[in-house]
Amino acid sequence: MWSQPLQFVKGVGPRRAAECARVGLTTVEDLLLRFPRRYENRAGLTPIASLRPGQTATVVGEVLSSGVRTTRRPGFRLFEVVVRDTTGAIRAVFPNQAFLKDVFRPHQQIVLYGLLEYRSGGLQFTNAEYEIVRGEIADGAEVDDVTVHTGRIVPIYEKIGSVTTRMQRSLIFQLLNDMPADGGGDAGDPIPAAVRGAMPTRMDAVRAIHFPAPGTEVDALNAFATDAHRRLIFEEFFLFQAGLVLRKRRAAADKKPRPVKVDDRIRDAARKVLPFKLTEGQKIALREIVTDMQRPEPMHRLLQGDVGAGKTIVALLAALVAMENGLQVAFMAPTEILADQHYLTIRRLLDASRFRVASLTGSLTAAKKRATLAEIASGTTHLVVGTHALVEGAVEFRDLGLVVIDEQHRFGVLQRATLREKGQKPDVLVMTATPIPRTLALTAFGDLDVSVIRGLPPGRQPIRTLAKAESRRDEVYQLVRHDLEQGRQAYVIYPLVDESEKVDLKAATAMYDTLQQDVFPEYRVALLHGRMKADEKEQVMAAFARGDVHVLAATTVVEVGVDVANATMMVVEHGERFGLSQLHQLRGRVGRGEHPSTCVLLYQAPLTEQGKARIDALISTTDGFIIAERDLEIRGPGDFFGTRQSGLPTLRVGDLVRDHTLMEDARRAAVSWLDDDVRARGLVAYLTTHWAERFGLVGIG
Ligand code: ADP
Ligand code: MG
Repeated sequence: MWSQPLQFVKGVGPRRAAECARVGLTTVEDLLLRFPRRYENRAGLTPIASLRPGQTATVVGEVLSSGVRTTRRPGFRLFEVVVRDTTGAIRAVFPNQAFLKDVFRPHQQIVLYGLLEYRSGGLQFTNAEYEIVRGEIADGAEVDDVTVHTGRIVPIYEKIGSVTTRMQRSLIFQLLNDMPADGGGDAGDPIPAAVRGAMPTRMDAVRAIHFPAPGTEVDALNAFATDAHRRLIFEEFFLFQAGLVLRKRRAAADKKPRPVKVDDRIRDAARKVLPFKLTEGQKIALREIVTDMQRPEPMHRLLQGDVGAGKTIVALLAALVAMENGLQVAFMAPTEILADQHYLTIRRLLDASRFRVASLTGSLTAAKKRATLAEIASGTTHLVVGTHALVEGAVEFRDLGLVVIDEQHRFGVLQRATLREKGQKPDVLVMTATPIPRTLALTAFGDLDVSVIRGLPPGRQPIRTLAKAESRRDEVYQLVRHDLEQGRQAYVIYPLVDESEKVDLKAATAMYDTLQQDVFPEYRVALLHGRMKADEKEQVMAAFARGDVHVLAATTVVEVGVDVANATMMVVEHGERFGLSQLHQLRGRVGRGEHPSTCVLLYQAPLTEQGKARIDALISTTDGFIIAERDLEIRGPGDFFGTRQSGLPTLRVGDLVRDHTLMEDARRAAVSWLDDDVRARGLVAYLTTHWAERFGLVGIG
């Protein structure tokens, strides 16, 4: 029954089945496991005599008369029914629905549900939900339990193409009615009974979410917080987490050809490249990473840390360990600016060493690219820094031992996998740009081990954050000028919704002109945006890093990772348009040196509720982990990562924010159930065939 294609269900047919398929519903199971969008309480009958205008009520009674009425508006016809119970009579009006004349007949028992209005001298229902009751009703006092659309708590579904909520309700009612109590052979509960415990069975839960028992709290239903809802959400999370656990197990069964070794010579070499003392947090993270690298199984580790926590040097030391062991390293960054910057930093730090560093981005000339590829393939290049150009087919390594991926959530899981395939089970270290809330980390990176760098390097000056309305722009320029006079530098960031938008680009360019010509004519202002050629961008960034450019007018291309310690002023134009994590990232571009820094959010009044929430959150804390949680609350998980291909599963019923504690429960349950191989067999078989398809992700095997 459950696996039956919808097309063959009575009352569906090919056209409606196609409409369902378009939203991902192909089987009976798909339809049954989909939550109603909300619920309406249509139980509780009101005697007609006590109806009041403005009230939403259910009445039951006998049809006295019905018919189509024409109105003064040409072509407009009203269908009208008059219904009576023992206390009185009421009119129900259905504008422009003359076809109802074939539905209602005198002496039928019907139920009406809807809003009561006072119109043309009387009380009436307009466009009420109706249902013809087939059972006999004694004196209109009680409806028997065959009503589907009225007289009970009623599910409201999202419309699917032309398939209305009413059709879906009838269909699901019929399906559930025709089903044996246990749902039949293929209704099988994927949650093992021992894990399920006191939770309802799958079949009971499915019945309860569509047609809740009388007396169920409607508020709990609408919050998807009944036992039935929670059980189905748990099921989804449990299966998802179990798949991640399996994926992780499979990966751990792999063996590296050559785990690294660490001795005093290598420790010495590391000390030599290190320009400062590592913080306690960095040391702990590095120890966890190097321990992984020494193990026989490949490392799959996520390195989290706040903006400016110093993740790069930790990754570089890991790279050094790999290279000292004769292995090559690939270091992938999401943008060219960032890749170039990593390249320059790493080359400088490794200058005195014997290791050779190369850069591989999309903007190399063909000849240069060919030469670089040859050096990577022959092993003359030990470490290559690049953009996603690194995952292209032409890139081959002699012996790739470590893959470092910076700012991971810009990359998809697939790109991670492709780069890994270029080595023989290399170690993989993934770094995120900003802290990720725990639930999202569990979900998008649930198959990775996690290291967190707590705290910032010493000597950091706190950043002062201000919000100023557009009308006080002059004050803001004063603040910038003050810092410039001290020899410091400034960023002015302009939001581009899309780097290819001509209109926005014009606005950013105009801003640059104004800054250079009218506001800071005695300083050097430069423009940086995503549509510039790579070498132009590079020149601008280099000039800013040298201090030759004083004010950098830029789009969000500088958002990630850019590091200029002398810059102490960050002005964000249209601060209200940015997401919270993005603002935190931008703010993290300053406060990197010994001088106090300021971040000013210029905003267009009046602020929306959300805009205000974001700006308040940013002013109230500089802790990236707190900001990440707030951002997730304000925006929701899809927008948090900003990309589709982010490793987040397509969830049917669960919500990562609303149901985050269930996700943690599900993870614990999955880990412990899969611990016993024999016991786990059934679940493993189920996941192997269903997981990837169900969650829209790369497989587990
Ligand atoms: P993120 O974690 O945001 O990628 P970076 O790796 O870019 O941070 O580091 C931010 C800045 O802090 C860099 O200029 C880096 O050289 C510096 N830094 C990192 N670790 C330390 C440390 N232990 N002591 C002093 N400065 C450090
Ligand atoms: Mg970084």
